Amino acid sequence: MFIPSFASVTAGTSTEGTCRTSGPSAVSLELMEGDIERILMLTEALWSFIKREHNLTDADLVRMLAEIDARDGRIDGRVAATPPVPCAYCNRISAKNRPTCIYCGKPVIASPFQR
Ligand SMILES: [Zn+2]
Repeated sequence: MFIPSFASVTAGTSTEGTCRTSGPSAVSLELMEGDIERILMLTEALWSFIKREHNLTDADLVRMLAEIDARDGRIDGRVAATPPVPCAYCNRISAKNRPTCIYCGKPVIASPFQR
């Protein structure tokens, strides 16, 4: 059985009377650990399906992880933040992580793995 997600438990939670600068509480850390564990389990399940369907091995996955890690020029176990890209409609640079362009209002076409 899954542990309730951090987002669903904290949604609508009042911060009144709490100190926002003291960092995450022990309860929120425990919920985040539950979220991470659930994501790891989902990832493992998805990889198991893909591996079986395409005759891949764990070594193939490790090679792909190394390739993705190296794409930003640094092998550091992280992917660098995506630079802002011009709007596909008006060609102006809009703020990242917005659903629509701040200039023309058209939908922003972003990579699903944008950081
Ligand atoms: Zn635009």
